[in-house]
Amino acid sequence: MKIFDEIESEVQSYARAFPRIFNKAQGEFLYDEDGNQYLDFLAGAGTLNYGHNNPIFKEKLLDYIHSDGITHGLDLHTKAKGEFMEAFNEKILKPRDLNYVMQFTGPTGTNAVEAALKLARNITGRENVISFTNGFHGVSMGSLAATGNSHHRGAAGVSLSGVSRMPYDGYLGEDIDTTVYLDKVLCDSSSGIDKPAAVIVETVQGEGGINAADFGWLKKLDEVCKKHEVLLIVDDIQAGCGRTGTYFSFEQAGIKPDIVTLSKSLGGYGLPFAVVLFKPELDQWKPGEHNGTFRGNNFAFVTAKAAIDHYWSDNRFSNEIMSKGRYVSERLEDIVEKYGNGNFTTRGRGMFQGINCVNGELAGKITKKAFQNGLIIETSGADDHVVKLLCPLIIDIDNLAKGIDILEDAIRDVCAGESSIPVQKKYFPPVDLAS
Ligand SMILES: *Cc1c(COP(=O)(O)O)cnc(C)c1O
Repeated sequence: MKIFDEIESEVQSYARAFPRIFNKAQGEFLYDEDGNQYLDFLAGAGTLNYGHNNPIFKEKLLDYIHSDGITHGLDLHTKAKGEFMEAFNEKILKPRDLNYVMQFTGPTGTNAVEAALKLARNITGRENVISFTNGFHGVSMGSLAATGNSHHRGAAGVSLSGVSRMPYDGYLGEDIDTTVYLDKVLCDSSSGIDKPAAVIVETVQGEGGINAADFGWLKKLDEVCKKHEVLLIVDDIQAGCGRTGTYFSFEQAGIKPDIVTLSKSLGGYGLPFAVVLFKPELDQWKPGEHNGTFRGNNFAFVTAKAAIDHYWSDNRFSNEIMSKGRYVSERLEDIVEKYGNGNFTTRGRGMFQGINCVNGELAGKITKKAFQNGLIIETSGADDHVVKLLCPLIIDIDNLAKGIDILEDAIRDVCAGESSIPVQKKYFPPVDLAS
């Protein structure tokens, strides 16, 4: 179709990597116009944890539409909204002993992050926010300031202020606990880092290259925040909703963040939907102080409730994700060992894993080759050097194996064509002292 070249903006991204016209999807499969079938290991960048057109949600949604349920309701109390909130409170919050109020923001992740940052700044009266190297929080101005990636930040066109960056877990090597540095900086009025309103963190950095923070590090981060009376915001937009094995990605760290953002798979059906959760004492908004036309999406309330009822009423789904995650770990470790030439490493947690190919060009060749063989899979990280597996959590185990087989073949073929894996120059080129 010529129309995409004619009038769609150059800003397109994923469409460049997978240049096909897709017209059908079900579960872990996407289909193009020519009837080709693809296994989807990108899954809307983590938006389709429950698969494409999940039949359980589809039925509920169709019933709702047929009965003329509310489609748009600003922030009016609707039955669909109330039922979603009841399910979320009873089956997600209470069993985890989490006491949060929920704010419905505009429907995208960055809308939730903006609201979270604004709330933290308003409550504390402080402007500065600490975010981490390689963090990704969205591309509207406030979220963008907290995002590490210079390609994204550079497009802002204005200076992005109000954020100080700190090294994430592992950034300075395995042996260095970067929370010690954060604590030191916050203790020292001469460190040059203003006391922040909040620290915003991903427990596993999705766009930043599947860097998983240690649970111990997260616990210490929480302690440092408490010690300095700084709010802890966990951006669980990509890592949450089961991706790492538990509903919230921070559960196993034993922490209860002050503020949590959720979006991506929250709506369940791929429908746009975002919320901010926070401790009741932080609910200092004045009515309408933070506003928006599309706050809460009634279709998404219906499918989000169906997702909670069906998948999160007991531990079964969580156990299933963990066991699939173990399978993925084993396979990826084996692949890295066989073809990685000592350079590749595995990373991530649960069903949020990847292979660090060190070199972005190589990773790109691998995903391209995989696509030719029917697997949709993307890269992430500063140099797009990490191949990331984000397949739907509900994937059939045989299809999971098949997708990894395709990936393994792609890695084998691509690596066979490289005599040694060139490591991209990270720092300065060597200086020729002789001349
Ligand atoms: C995707 C993402 C966002 C932004 O969500 P959008 O819906 O793209 O605005 C924010 N934070 C994290 C961790 C994300 O993965």
